[in-house]
Amino acid sequence: MTKPVPRPSVLAIEAYVPGKSAAPGAARVFKLSANETPLGPSPRAIEALRGMADQIALYPEGSSRALREAIGARHGLKPDRIIAGAGSDDLLELLALAYVSPGDEGVYSQYGFLEYRIVTLAAGGTPVVAPETNYTADVDALLGCVSERTKIVFLANPNNPTGTFVPASEVARLARALPSHVLLVLDAAYAEYVQRDDYEAGAALVDAHDNVVMTRTFSKIFGLAGLRVGWAYGPTHVIEALNRIRSPFNVSSAGSVAAIAALSDRAHLDAAVAHNARWLPWLTREITALGLDVLPSVANFIAVRFPETPGLTAADADNFLTARGLVLRAIGAYGMPQFLRLTVGAQEANERVVEALAEFMRNARSQQDAQRDSQADAQADAHG
Ligand SMILES: *Cc1c(COP(=O)(O)O)cnc(C)c1O
Repeated sequence: MTKPVPRPSVLAIEAYVPGKSAAPGAARVFKLSANETPLGPSPRAIEALRGMADQIALYPEGSSRALREAIGARHGLKPDRIIAGAGSDDLLELLALAYVSPGDEGVYSQYGFLEYRIVTLAAGGTPVVAPETNYTADVDALLGCVSERTKIVFLANPNNPTGTFVPASEVARLARALPSHVLLVLDAAYAEYVQRDDYEAGAALVDAHDNVVMTRTFSKIFGLAGLRVGWAYGPTHVIEALNRIRSPFNVSSAGSVAAIAALSDRAHLDAAVAHNARWLPWLTREITALGLDVLPSVANFIAVRFPETPGLTAADADNFLTARGLVLRAIGAYGMPQFLRLTVGAQEANERVVEALAEFMRNARSQQDAQRDSQADAQADAHG
């Protein structure tokens, strides 16, 4: 008996496994595993959502016109060069489907966002992985992976799960150096958090080139992850291609309404930026002071490296923290099994994580000392 069989490239995909959100047995759970904002959405978004609840029997306006106009007004972009999606994941997938055929290649960097591999394979393409330098995407390495078969290069900037970024001058160099048949996708999911003069999300590069697209999301700093709203800004020909293949009502009316309201709340956005600007360096400093390595992040999360010593590993720390209701993200699937990714949380969560990690390091070290002492004793006995 045969059964329907997916295309071979589909079977090559490891399904995306989100970070865990539960901590069985813990009295309180602090979910710091999905880069969600501790400030929640703007109260205006919640109010707008409540206000439209009696209209959900109606289909949304299919082109998300009101949302694209609000985004355009806010960012100074032409609404007809914007496409909205069910989260930016929707748009990443549409980009791969539109541009990558079986036999084509999609390039991304070593610790780049895993979705790029999934959408490249889903389109039937071949993922090509460029090595990173110091857990940071390397423009020359990306360019070195480009061939005649390359159709798309994905760059998350800043990147998840590392939190590192590529400066604007380097991204501009990448855009200039790419052959014109290759689409450069700049995924700026965390752009609002970045407080660096040498960072740009990518709109200017989209304007300057015919082969650059920028994706953005309402899931991260705007706190609307559950509603699934993202957008992309690109050349007209790219937006037209995506519009041909997107599903006709790909953004819900609830998502549009809430996103428009969220965009209007500058004070809430500023508060989220300020919160992160305070706690990202604090967490980095405190955790580094415990003797752990923290990758330099410009986003709302940090990747913390643990020793390989039994008792002190990332997996040990994950168990220890989870038992205390502190849920971080294991990132072994990214080839970073020595790391845990920690989202910047509310003050209480941040302080608890640092306290718990301090306790973890003390316990693990004193256990090691005890072991060493008993080994030394045993040796001394053997000799004595
Ligand atoms: C979270 C994230 C996204 C996608 O989020 P959506 O909820 O689908 O908009 C895209 N890229 C990166 C790098 C992310 O971390």
